[in-house]
Amino acid sequence: MSAFLGVFLLAGNAAAASLSFDGPLTQGGLVVGKTEPGARVSIDGRPVRVSSEGAFLMGFGRDAEKTVHLRLDHPDGTRTEKTLSVKGRAYKVQRIDGLPEQQVTPRTPEDLARIRDDNAKIATVRNLDTAKAWFASGFQWPVIGPLSGVFGSQRILNGEPRRPHNGVDVAAPRGTTVTAAADGVVVLVHPDMFYTGKTVMIDHGHGLSSVYVHMDDILIADGQRISQGTPIGIVGKTGRVTGAHLHWGVSLFGTLLDPALLAGPMNLPAAQKKGG
Ligand SMILES: [Zn+2]
Repeated sequence: MSAFLGVFLLAGNAAAASLSFDGPLTQGGLVVGKTEPGARVSIDGRPVRVSSEGAFLMGFGRDAEKTVHLRLDHPDGTRTEKTLSVKGRAYKVQRIDGLPEQQVTPRTPEDLARIRDDNAKIATVRNLDTAKAWFASGFQWPVIGPLSGVFGSQRILNGEPRRPHNGVDVAAPRGTTVTAAADGVVVLVHPDMFYTGKTVMIDHGHGLSSVYVHMDDILIADGQRISQGTPIGIVGKTGRVTGAHLHWGVSLFGTLLDPALLAGPMNLPAAQKKGG
C-alpha cells in the first residue's frame, strides 16, 4: 500500500510543472486548471473536458465536499493524482416579506406547467458540453451597482424557507444596460419565464453557463456569438421580483457557482457605495 502511494507521489512530482490552477478553491468557486494538451483529467472519478490548450474546469457548489480528488493521465503515460482542500463558507439568512402569495406558492395548474417548462429549458442549457473554451476571456460584472443579494443565502419568503439564493442580485436602476460577463454564445432567450421574467442564458463552453434575469428588454438573439461586454439586455423587474435589479447566475453543469467569485471585486463609483 505505502509502496504504491510512493510511486504515485513521485509521478505527481515529476509532472507537477504541467499543472496549474487559477481561481479560488472554495465553496461557490470556479477553478480553471491548466495542463498540457492531450492530458485526460477526471475529478472525483468523472472525466472532464480538456481544451486544445490544456484548460479544464472545476466548480464547487454552495455545499461542496471539503476535498476533491483530481487525476491527470498525461500524454507521456505518467499520472498525477492530487487531493485538494476546498474551503468552506458561512452563508447569510435573508428574509423577504410582502411577495404576492400566489407567486410564493404557485397553485394553479397553468403556473405549475409554466414552471416545469421553464425548468426544462434551463436544465437543457445547463447540460450543454460545448468544446469551445470561451470562458478563457475571464468574467466581469454585467452591471455595476450595490449587491442586494449574495450567493448561497437562505431565503425565507413570506416566512417560508426556500432554496438558497443561487446567484447574486445587483441593484441597478431600471434601464441600465446589462452586458455579457464573458465570451460565449446565446443559448436561451425567453420573453416571460414564471420566476425570472425576461431571461437570457449564455454558454461559455465546457458546461459553464451564465443566466441574466428580470430584464425589461433583451438586446440579443438566440444563437448569437457574443464577446465579453456585449450589451445583452436592460435591467428591469419582470418575473417574481420586488424591485428592479439584475439577478446573475453562473453554473457548471448542475453546480451553481458564486458569480462574485468569478468577477472579482467590483469597482463601485464612490457615490453608490453607501447604497443598497
Ligand atoms: Zn437573485
